[in-house]
Amino acid sequence: MTEKLILDGNRVANDIKEQLQGRVDALSQKGVIPCLATILVGDDPASETYVKMKGNACRKLGIESRRIHLDSSISTEGLIDVIQKLNEDPLVHGILLQHPVPHGIDERAAFEAISIHKDVDGVTALGFAQNAFDYASFPSCTPAAIMAILDYYEIPIEGKHAVVVGRSPILGKPVSLMLLNRDATVTTCHSKTKKLPKLLQLADIVVAAVGKPKLIQGDWIREGAVVLDAGYNAGNVGDVDYESCLAKASAITPVPAGVGPVTIAMLLKHTVDAAEKSIAR
Ligand code: NAP
Repeated sequence: MTEKLILDGNRVANDIKEQLQGRVDALSQKGVIPCLATILVGDDPASETYVKMKGNACRKLGIESRRIHLDSSISTEGLIDVIQKLNEDPLVHGILLQHPVPHGIDERAAFEAISIHKDVDGVTALGFAQNAFDYASFPSCTPAAIMAILDYYEIPIEGKHAVVVGRSPILGKPVSLMLLNRDATVTTCHSKTKKLPKLLQLADIVVAAVGKPKLIQGDWIREGAVVLDAGYNAGNVGDVDYESCLAKASAITPVPAGVGPVTIAMLLKHTVDAAEKSIAR
């Protein structure tokens, strides 16, 4: 049996955060405290937890976390008004609108209201397009985390066949483009895809970004595949059936402690990048 590599997200995240500390200190000597504003609309408990985790990670590194909690009854116009005030605030460098927002709010319109200079999660159409052209300042954090894990462990991408399961605008689509920009051959699957297990048999690299607990089974993947599980479902389970995929994969991310911590580290990195760019402008 070949040796298994567990792709340790905490290790990758700590490496990114260590590299950031000096930059945060240098900014603070110039009187600039990087600041991330997070907007939570409504009371979804999972979203509340994510926002809290992001705030705590900011504070540990000396990044200011400004939390804005809005009632679920807010209108799209009201939300856009809040975002525009943050766009104009010179002390705020990054804006994160926690997805999903309650039904009745036009999430796309709210995302589009975020200034490109503060779009630290790559959610605007312009940020998405820049990522497609491979010159985004801030690609979406979870796709960037997946690429960072591959790079940290020096897993080759060029010429490999990557199968991405999921095509959401914040995850499946941007990670497909990032893999394509790194010369992988990419197949992107979705809910209407036929014969998913057959397509997965072609994959050197599997990215699971579905939101369906344990959907991807060990006997669907090829011996020696590299498996990145972005899924995070109730009960701390991913979109991959970990035990059966571990038996087949050459490398795999666990859930938790895989893609999740690296996503947060990427958000911190983009906030620091944005703060540095703000003084260069
Ligand atoms: P999403 O917006 O619900 O998108 C899910 C995608 O999966 C859609 O493209 C959907 O296809 C596809 N899909 C659904 N059922 C499928 C099936 N049976 N076979 C193949 N494709 C199927 O979800 P998301 O926001 O991208 O999130 C995906 C997962 O990642 C969730 O578990 C979420 O919690 C997790 N996530 C984790 C992080 C992190 O930091 N680790 C960050 C963001 C999200 P259609 O387009 O046809 O509907």
